[in-house]
Amino acid sequence: MVTIQGKSVYRDIGMGKLCFLENRRSVECRWTEDVEKELARFEEAVDTVTKRLRQLYEGSVRAVGETNASVFRVQELLLQDREYAGAIRQMVSDQKVNAEYAVAAAGENAARALDLVEDAYIRERAGDVRDVTNLLLEALGSAPDGLEMLQEPYLLAAEDLLPSQAVQLSAGNVRGIALKGGSTRSHAAILARSMGIPAVMKLGEAFGSEFHGKQAVIDGFTGTIYIDPDQKTLEAMEEKKREADRHKVLLRRLKGRETVSGTGRRIRLCANAGNLAEVEAAWDNDAEGIGLFRSELMYLECGRMPDEDTQFALYRRILETMRGRETVIRTFDIGADKQVPWLKQEKEENPALGMRGIRLLRENPQMFRVQLRALYRAGVAGNLRILYPMITSLEEIRSIRQMERQVRQELDREGVRYRDKVPAGIMIETPAAALLSDRLAQETDFFSVGTNDLTQYTLALDRQNAKLESLEDPGHEAVLRLIEMTAKNAGNAGIPIAICGDLAADASLSERFLSMGIDALSVPPGMILELRETIREL
Ligand code: PEP
Ligand code: MG
Repeated sequence: MVTIQGKSVYRDIGMGKLCFLENRRSVECRWTEDVEKELARFEEAVDTVTKRLRQLYEGSVRAVGETNASVFRVQELLLQDREYAGAIRQMVSDQKVNAEYAVAAAGENAARALDLVEDAYIRERAGDVRDVTNLLLEALGSAPDGLEMLQEPYLLAAEDLLPSQAVQLSAGNVRGIALKGGSTRSHAAILARSMGIPAVMKLGEAFGSEFHGKQAVIDGFTGTIYIDPDQKTLEAMEEKKREADRHKVLLRRLKGRETVSGTGRRIRLCANAGNLAEVEAAWDNDAEGIGLFRSELMYLECGRMPDEDTQFALYRRILETMRGRETVIRTFDIGADKQVPWLKQEKEENPALGMRGIRLLRENPQMFRVQLRALYRAGVAGNLRILYPMITSLEEIRSIRQMERQVRQELDREGVRYRDKVPAGIMIETPAAALLSDRLAQETDFFSVGTNDLTQYTLALDRQNAKLESLEDPGHEAVLRLIEMTAKNAGNAGIPIAICGDLAADASLSERFLSMGIDALSVPPGMILELRETIREL
């Protein structure tokens, strides 16, 4: 047995075989002048996969009968489908990209479109689409040796994880995450917590791909990984897992109860989410609302900008899932570590200080307009609030108001149904916004404090830089004072203030947040009941 100590990211136990990311399919985007050649490679892959699916069908008819085998027929039809194969061909031709990339990107788009369909039967077809995509990639030569093991539950291991890689995890069989490096404040860590996946990071040089395929246990409580665990450790970990599950059951008793401290202060507990599964988890864990939906996370892997109807369908589903509870959807916070393939951003010296959040939306008014149209239209389905990221000035708020007016006028002219009175708030995640919060409060409906970026910018600590973590002081007094000041200004202006960054879930700060008069905390869905328990005991 090998024991390696790292840092805990999400407190739970995960067991399975280690699968190193470098052994997983990773599809590179290459530009090509020879579009014909890429199209021919794709057609060849289609032939290979068609033959393979026919063999699978025939073999399965004999083994499991015609009805069960028909899945392979359905998959074969996909290869002739205009929406699927046609979109791949079009992407190769229009964007001049390699066949593998078009298969991966357009294939995932098609699967995600199905994820959003209301009919559960059709929704399940997303799995077929992903299977066909994998077969095509394999035929194109980009499948890894270790792909087979992805069919069973596994522990994902890597040097580090990009948000675009992390967002794919919810669809897979990932039972835990173990990273050699990584930063516990990164978006990958946020996503692991949000999806409730046991995770450890910063395992260091002792951890490497020589452990690929080995059985391991991640103890997310202590930040330890046990590779090839001996019987005694395995039994101890199984008992710890059972105990963690028992605690979760106990916490369920707190569903439907108010979050009031022993001293009688009430606070709303909401959830952060980045996809529909997390919104459902928020509902299951009795979130009093969605305090932050990071809309950009759904589209980090898309080959082209999601159109208005695609976005509308997603936002409407979120609002319907939350059944009238307050739901804050943040406009795209793209830039810095969250790059999307459909916006070719120029390389920047300091991306965290560069074109991101509201700056990028203003720079791309068409993208901004389309998102607002989709949000206003979806607004009739529930209790929507819109949140804008990376605000630093009043001028930004005024230009947002102008865009909102323009979009509403447009929808009026077209006679499209929408909700016109959608409260709009801003993220307080730059020191400038906190320092100006008395003025900003006059022109906005609510504040939401993003402590991850507020910490990064106040303490000049790059949140992506793992080396700086030793300097990190969660709940640094400078950050807390900025939050306190913002809360006072929100109170004076009579607008609500929430905290949606990672600090919101830090139970050691709950008392201080209550005394500041914070109205709501927004945390990963799996942490709501635990935090409710802590606050009720204060
Ligand atoms: C934050 O900065 O605290 C925040 C909630 O936004 P994100 O983590 O998505 O940057
Ligand atoms: Mg932020």
